[in-house]
Amino acid sequence: MKANPLQEPRTALRFAVDFAQKDLGHLTPRQLRDLERLVQAFLNREKWVSEHVDGAFGPKQLEFLQERTLEILTNLVNASSVGKGRLAIAGDLRLSFYLSRDGDRVHIEVLGSPLHLLEYQLKEVLEAVGLGKLRVCPSTACGRLFLKVTKKEFCSARCQSRTYMQKRRAEERAEKERFIGKKTRTRRGQHHTAERRPLDGPNQSRTRA
Ligand SMILES: [Zn+2]
Repeated sequence: MKANPLQEPRTALRFAVDFAQKDLGHLTPRQLRDLERLVQAFLNREKWVSEHVDGAFGPKQLEFLQERTLEILTNLVNASSVGKGRLAIAGDLRLSFYLSRDGDRVHIEVLGSPLHLLEYQLKEVLEAVGLGKLRVCPSTACGRLFLKVTKKEFCSARCQSRTYMQKRRAEERAEKERFIGKKTRTRRGQHHTAERRPLDGPNQSRTRA
């Protein structure tokens, strides 16, 4: 019996966030099978036995669970941090619990439909980890959900460097325009008379830059 790779709540939540945004259409059949096994591990965090996880539920079910995961996480991350947001999960989950003794520990098995197991496990890991680290990547044209585990404010090194480059280019542009603006103003000051000043005065140039 192999240990469940998603036993640890933070690892499990990171997996859920990643799964929710995975491009399933670009996965090879093998990658899809591997992903399915991990989803099974997530749904069965209490009783996961790798040998039992071969009753694959197929790409349709995977897509359905993915949509629901993204919906729940998005609702939570978009809700304001003060007060109560929109309900992310509401209603009954039909789950069967089996509790038995395992040495000095209590062994629990939870059985149910994939959707109800998913919602229950999401509740479990979100409760354990909290929402403080669940973020939306601030990089333009990204907006991915991610778990902030380091000081980095972005979902990936790529988004971080892209944003840094954008900022640098904007700064360089502003610097250049300030420089050109100064030159133009001097030239205009020399060649044109005061009547053009109100339109092309220093204030307007600065606003446009
Ligand atoms: Zn990003």
